[in-house]
Amino acid sequence: MRKYKTQTQLFCTHCHCETDHRVIYIDKKISEIDCIACHKMTRIDFDIRSYFHRGLRERALTKPSRLAQEYRRSHRAFLNGLSLRMISKPYRIAKDLKRSKHIIDRYKKDHHNPN
Ligand SMILES: [Zn+2]
Repeated sequence: MRKYKTQTQLFCTHCHCETDHRVIYIDKKISEIDCIACHKMTRIDFDIRSYFHRGLRERALTKPSRLAQEYRRSHRAFLNGLSLRMISKPYRIAKDLKRSKHIIDRYKKDHHNPN
């Protein structure tokens, strides 16, 4: 799970004109939109825990096909990267889960969301 922000022009219902807005995403979902001119913020509520679990399930289901794609692309690179991947995988998973927990906790705090 990743959190990132972009900036785009949107119509602000408070300023009544198009202004720059900061848009915060959690993966592919919009979490917050705020007008840079007047700072009016809109939070988009969704069930972040079930979104997180659905993402984990999809990643687990597509893993074999992703590995097959990497293998077809380059056999040598796949085999060279395999041992390193097996060593670093538990660390990457732990790091990813820790980051996801931080994002979920922060989202729940900001959105006052009991889910
Ligand atoms: Zn505004």
